[in-house]
Amino acid sequence: MTLVTMPWIDGCRFAGEDANKAFYTRRGHMRIKFWGVRGSTPTPQPENMRYGGNTSCVEIRFGEQLYIFDCGTGFRTLGQQLREEFNGRPLSAHIFVSHFHWDHIQGIPFFGPLYDKAENVFSLHSTQRTLSLQQVMREQMAAPYFPVDMSEMKARRTFYNIDQGTLPLEGVTVRTKWLNHPQGCMGFRLETKDGVVVYATDNEPGDPLFDKNVRELAAGADVLIYDAQYLPEEYEAKKRGWGHSHWREAINVVMESGAKELVLFHHDPDHDDACIDQVVAEARNYYPKVQAASEGLELVLG
Ligand SMILES: [Zn+2]
Ligand SMILES: [Zn+2]
Repeated sequence: MTLVTMPWIDGCRFAGEDANKAFYTRRGHMRIKFWGVRGSTPTPQPENMRYGGNTSCVEIRFGEQLYIFDCGTGFRTLGQQLREEFNGRPLSAHIFVSHFHWDHIQGIPFFGPLYDKAENVFSLHSTQRTLSLQQVMREQMAAPYFPVDMSEMKARRTFYNIDQGTLPLEGVTVRTKWLNHPQGCMGFRLETKDGVVVYATDNEPGDPLFDKNVRELAAGADVLIYDAQYLPEEYEAKKRGWGHSHWREAINVVMESGAKELVLFHHDPDHDDACIDQVVAEARNYYPKVQAASEGLELVLG
């Protein structure tokens, strides 16, 4: 296990903090908001709209600090909301990217605050096991895939290479563990005085090392956001080796780890709202505190 210590520069406070203080804190100290909950590819079609069609992006605010997990297409709408909320005031955030599959990075070139100004400060955390995130961003915006290149982004960006270990931040500890996914994927555990949230998506069960990792990551967490892409029967029939879990395994993880609340995440593109409703209803036969992530869903801790 590699322990990564970080050269911590300026914490992660918002520069315009006073004006926004009431907004951040009025509904609890730790807020989780889902901006993209779909796996694999965006699905903007009517029968999927209640849960949502954007790919992975979860925002967590702890007091005035902003943490973002994954940059799928939901990252774009988060950017719109931040522009509106900050209204010209500079913002800063920690951005954690679990891995570089399209559904976790596709929103990056469409995130407005990256282009706006040098006073916007982003700390981007990811593993360099395959490529650095900087290289991934440069390549995803290179000709002939995108009309403008990364030089258009004015915001200050600092890239951190993370591995399995612990990142001590300001009032927050982030613990990371590898999950079982083609080309690798990082799971995250965010610990604060107000609660513990685990973001563990894109993980296939069945490998003892990774099964243990995800249970350790989730141990006693208040909220476990977990990959429930498949139905158990779909997984058994044709999706073994594709790197994803199913809702029945999500139930196993929450019960065996002692996590409290389970949020099913990374919904399959072919699972419409009715299918996900059915999954939640079945899952509640095994564990009562389960719901499916939907775009706009907010959870408050502390
Ligand atoms: Zn994914
Ligand atoms: Zn993936």
